[in-house]
Amino acid sequence: MLVLSQDYELFFQRSGSIEKCLFEPTNMLLDFADKSGVRVTFFVDAGMLSRMQQLSPTNASMAKDLSRIQSHIRSIHDRGHEIGLHIHPHWEDTRWEGGAWDFSATRYQLRDFSTDEVGDIVLRYTRLLNELCDGNVTTFRAGGFCVEPFDAIRDSLLQNGITIDSSVVPGAVLKDENKGFDFSNVPKRSWWYFDESPLIPSANGRFLEVAITPVVLPFRHYWGRAIDRVVGRQPAGVVGDGSSKAIGKREIIRRLAGAGRVSELSIDGAKAGRLVSSRVRRQNRKIWQVMGHPKLLGKSSLDLLQKFIKWKDIRRFESLSGCASAIRAGEDLAARE
Ligand SMILES: [Zn+2]
Repeated sequence: MLVLSQDYELFFQRSGSIEKCLFEPTNMLLDFADKSGVRVTFFVDAGMLSRMQQLSPTNASMAKDLSRIQSHIRSIHDRGHEIGLHIHPHWEDTRWEGGAWDFSATRYQLRDFSTDEVGDIVLRYTRLLNELCDGNVTTFRAGGFCVEPFDAIRDSLLQNGITIDSSVVPGAVLKDENKGFDFSNVPKRSWWYFDESPLIPSANGRFLEVAITPVVLPFRHYWGRAIDRVVGRQPAGVVGDGSSKAIGKREIIRRLAGAGRVSELSIDGAKAGRLVSSRVRRQNRKIWQVMGHPKLLGKSSLDLLQKFIKWKDIRRFESLSGCASAIRAGEDLAARE
């Protein structure tokens, strides 16, 4: 089974345009999906919608952009794909200055907000998305995989009918004060039930984690990305026209030294080559969850995904909630790989 998930969002340093980061690459993906039968779960950055809505009454072009994005999300749903909740709470503090988004001095993680604020964010963001997809939001991915401390959002998610999480890449670690996570001790499985935290499986838990398939990046990967940054280019013909929020110097050095190479299996331009690596080719899995971001779709991304589907002889394509339903129905989708 292939589950393809995509984080539908702008960049968070220099935002880039909604045409190049959202519409153009997403439409390429949707056309590919029509031809191949792949179903896509789009984790929509609802904070962006919320902030645009707040600013729209006094900004006509903002109102117009928001309405175009909302129509686009509706069309994604109408074409048979899934809309999931993606939370980047820094939108709460983001300012619109001189015709551009200013992300400086924003709080990046939910743990930086009070319990009441978190409850309000989850409710408001989920409502905005449910309005666009007939109330079908049941899945969640934390912005930047910053899903801990989960108890801060657990009750709010339950109250809003969201019991499927996909924020964990088993084995991945990012050491960064503002946007870090540590999945080094989570089970190396495709899915598990949990209650208190997605990092702690619990057989009778009310939540289901459907993990993003991990992959080990080659040693040269971060060196290539570092060079891209120095010369100011996007890797592998990426469609999006913005730039990503930087990580701390210490983590960059750690990565250049060869650590932190467990990453998500992805169709993003810089990582899509791993889909057809010998390491992936050797693996047998019943569920592959490949992720990505429309903004980072590269010129070879879809060809590599097509090749991957053929190599692995994948014939079953599910949305994330479709995959979760199959698991909960007790289908033989062995959790251990
Ligand atoms: Zn994101």
